[in-house]
Amino acid sequence: MMYNNLSALNINLSENKIELFNKFIKEFCAYSEKINLISKNEINILFQKHIYDSLSVNLFLKNNVPLKLLDIGTGGGFPSLPIAILYDNIKVTAVDSTQKKINVVSEIAKKLDLKNIQAICERAENLPNNCKNSFDIAVSRAMAELRIMLEYAIPYVKTGGYFIAYKSIKAEEELSNAENAIKILGVKLFDKIEYSLPMENSPKRVLLVFKKVKDTPEIYPRKNGMISKKPL
Ligand code: SAH
Repeated sequence: MMYNNLSALNINLSENKIELFNKFIKEFCAYSEKINLISKNEINILFQKHIYDSLSVNLFLKNNVPLKLLDIGTGGGFPSLPIAILYDNIKVTAVDSTQKKINVVSEIAKKLDLKNIQAICERAENLPNNCKNSFDIAVSRAMAELRIMLEYAIPYVKTGGYFIAYKSIKAEEELSNAENAIKILGVKLFDKIEYSLPMENSPKRVLLVFKKVKDTPEIYPRKNGMISKKPL
């Protein structure tokens, strides 16, 4: 049973959660056929490559404490949907700039009767001001280079909170390019959590966990494409 692989992440799913994940896979595949969320080949490895990877955050969170979590550039709901399914106590806000992707996240959440996730169509740099300094944790996966992700994410994290970047082989290079962003945005690298995906060749992944140790200057995140045009 594929869910047994989750024991490497210290996750042991209840019957009820297994049923929810099965339903999630079924619904996600149905939508993916319609709007091409991920490629046909990827559908076969949806669990190993996307769900398992999303849930690796359990190596950091470890328990189901109440938290407010922001997922930036969620796409078809990774990691936000698997996180919302696994942790009833985490209130998830999933943001993406593409309406059709956000619609899928909302519809899947509704079909699974998940009460702890809201999906918002907006560019991350344009979220309302009251979102600033308001999340315990922000996460982002496959969204941009690390220094860019940091500028999108850190302004929304509470001082004392964390940002988790899901990364793979280029993590070290991206970390050295992010030195300036790390300094300006007031974060510290708190942990590097390595793991591998339960599939052929065991691809290596890493969670880069940052702790926000200072308030972020008001001007971040910069607007009008500056974040990617002139990365920190
Ligand atoms: N996190 C998902 C999707 C990755 S694709 C996964 O791991 O599968 C990157 C996503 O980021 C796309 O859906 C794109 O629409 C979104 N995105 C890119 N720039 C963004 C921005 N500035 N604000 C919000 N979403 C953005």
